[in-house]
Amino acid sequence: MPVIEKGSLVLISGPSGYLGAHCAEELLKHGFRVRGTVRSQDKGEYLVDLFEKYGRDKFEYVIVEDVEAPGAFDKAIKGVDAFLHTASPFHFNAPDPYKDLINPAVNGTLNALKSAKSEPSVKRVVITASFACIVEPKDPGTYVFTEKDWNEYSPKQVEEHGKDAEASQSYRASKTLAERAAWKFVEEEKPQFDITTIQPPLIFGPVIHQVPSPDKLNTSVNNFYQFLVGNKSAEDAQNGFGSYVDVRDVAKIHVESLLNDHAGNQRFLVATTDSSYQPLLDTYFNNASDDLKSAFPKAQQGKPGNSKPKANTIDTSKAQKTFNWKPIAEKDTVIDMVESLAKYQKERWSK
Ligand code: NAP
Repeated sequence: MPVIEKGSLVLISGPSGYLGAHCAEELLKHGFRVRGTVRSQDKGEYLVDLFEKYGRDKFEYVIVEDVEAPGAFDKAIKGVDAFLHTASPFHFNAPDPYKDLINPAVNGTLNALKSAKSEPSVKRVVITASFACIVEPKDPGTYVFTEKDWNEYSPKQVEEHGKDAEASQSYRASKTLAERAAWKFVEEEKPQFDITTIQPPLIFGPVIHQVPSPDKLNTSVNNFYQFLVGNKSAEDAQNGFGSYVDVRDVAKIHVESLLNDHAGNQRFLVATTDSSYQPLLDTYFNNASDDLKSAFPKAQQGKPGNSKPKANTIDTSKAQKTFNWKPIAEKDTVIDMVESLAKYQKERWSK
């Protein structure tokens, strides 16, 4: 029995973002009606146009300027059956880890849950957490991460170093503390709904959201884009990032979590195996058409075929089994991402 019936109204925060736009589209593909919270009318109207093909009455938006404001979702939650909470800052420009990352992540999540509790029709809340909530420094090749692991390291780093903490640790702490707060809320408040948290590593794949200029690209895709435009070195290509996953797979698992009875009160790791930019660059150079390559003449090749850094394993068997999930092939992730970037460059960024 699906938890949320098709045709139900699902609220999504952050549909203007890279992942959120794919989640909203996946909801629409599944026949849900979708209400998105966005920070401006312009972002809302972009999405209305993007999703017009699913029917004018299927997507609507409400303005929520800041997920951190008390009662941020109180109006948006009315009449909703489920809530996908994806909105959270993901960037490394955070002089103050609390103000810039941790507070919006934690308070935004708590606001989502408080509003959901006030609306009796809400049955499930799916929260975009992260592999960042799980991963801790371990010697490469020695550890298998599962949903049982928690990142204790990053919150301690921020506690100890405050504004001098590394930005990546501040971001990881924001995600960890937000997810911790969510599980604590459920334990203490015993709401009428259950929650599911999704834990992706770096997300790649095609871009469909509003990106008015390349400097507005979301953090994960921008990491790859910087290789395409030649701003990163061959050495950078060897840097390990743990793992990646396709944005369409992450969106699919968010939506499948609404349909699957067994997804309630669970965490799900969604990841693939590759762990540095070099194999992804090799995939690009080996598979891109000459036409696509001509869009990025300065692209960095790295050191083709160079072996990738030893990484720890991420056990994704739970998500694979629960959702019968088989990750999208690396070639499709990379080529579809670069094709979308070439299209944005040609049609939007060069004007
Ligand atoms: P993104 O494109 O920057 O999207 C972030 C979304 O959150 C945007 O819609 C943004 O609104 C919204 N947002 C951020 N702070 C907000 C605030 N204070 N008030 C209202 N809205 C706010 O990044 P993304 O990569 O899609 O990230 C989406 C989610 O996935 C985040 O929870 C992130 O932590 C998680 N995640 C991402 C990755 C990855 O590699 N991309 C990996 C693991 C987890 P605007 O559009 O108005 O800025």
